[in-house]
Amino acid sequence: MRRISPTLVGDVNRTAVLALIAQQSPISRSDIARRLALSPATVTAATRNLLERGLITVVERAPSRGGRPALLLGLVASAAHALGVKIAADHLVGVRVDLDANALDSFEGPFDAAGPQALADLAGILKPHVARSTDGQPSLLGSGLGVPGIAADGLGGVTSPVLGWDSLAIAERLEHELDVPVLIDNDVNTLAIAERLYGRGRSTDHFLTVTIGRGVGLGIVVGGDVYRGANGGAGEFGHVAVVDDGPLCECGKRGCLEALVADPALVREGQALGVLARGEGVDHLRALANEGDERARAIYRAAGGTLGRAVANLVNVLSPERVFVSGEGTQAWAHLADSFDSALKESLFAPFRDTRVEIDPWDDARWAKGAAALVLRATFVPTLVQREPDESVRARLAQGETLIRAGSVG
Ligand SMILES: [Zn+2]
Repeated sequence: MRRISPTLVGDVNRTAVLALIAQQSPISRSDIARRLALSPATVTAATRNLLERGLITVVERAPSRGGRPALLLGLVASAAHALGVKIAADHLVGVRVDLDANALDSFEGPFDAAGPQALADLAGILKPHVARSTDGQPSLLGSGLGVPGIAADGLGGVTSPVLGWDSLAIAERLEHELDVPVLIDNDVNTLAIAERLYGRGRSTDHFLTVTIGRGVGLGIVVGGDVYRGANGGAGEFGHVAVVDDGPLCECGKRGCLEALVADPALVREGQALGVLARGEGVDHLRALANEGDERARAIYRAAGGTLGRAVANLVNVLSPERVFVSGEGTQAWAHLADSFDSALKESLFAPFRDTRVEIDPWDDARWAKGAAALVLRATFVPTLVQREPDESVRARLAQGETLIRAGSVG
């Protein structure tokens, strides 16, 4: 059972005011009242409370037409923190961020996701980072976890073939051990959420985040929020069927996109063609391509074309404004780019020809930051669907006693 703190009278208004200030800073009290349809007195009471608690501050005085200059309010980014952790099969990367998603510190280390003690190990790794927050540090709102799998309410836990997890009730267990809200989502969704809140997606309501590497992932942002489908599993782009009777995929089907362009597929192809020796991996294949090995480059060319056509199909269906390609596989983008671009152009529906595709440099910490954005989103972006985990994060921010006083903010 999740713990939900009782919502106190006034908290709902305060939370709404705080969320609006976070999104629209700098903003005046009269703008807040107008946009939230609250009375000036209610807004004044709410902002006084938030100012006293050091969550917001006066950032500037706007010139006004006659009368007194309006005070413009902004968020104090250092007033609270969130943890974000990206979990992979053999390691994890964590980051602590402030309310503006600036990374304050990070950690990483080995983690055996399939091990018998995985949850106890994970709690043990996170404990010192949670404890640090209660020891003279600003309040920790919660911890977000990004996992390569399906993590949705109603599915009874986290299911991830890559991690060897089947309906694992990880959030409940970690909340019990760590005593902070724990929010979990698919790692590509967390990347898309971070992009939406703090990155290039801020000005884009419809975009796709495609990831390549160990697998092929997809985050779909439609109308400003992540689209999850009926059971939370939307985005299994890696398992769209691409060729008849193709190579066997980890999912059990044949000819999936992932079975043609993900790292294991490239390595299998390299070994079949004698480009790679037994035991040599994708790093070796990339190194060969970098050195000019024509057979290695041909493997990447084929993969780039397959990926380009598949992405064009996505764009034809969803009509996003932009597509971001991310993940460790982008380290080899130089070898994928030409065939990707020409296959994409060839397969795009004419009106969508100008859709921008942007390639991200590989950065593990970016995914961890995405996981932390899960917590920040729960705090500042009330969604249409009331989710218990989001409520527990908001309640934590609304409770005065969990936050430090203004004077002790650095
Ligand atoms: Zn598959």
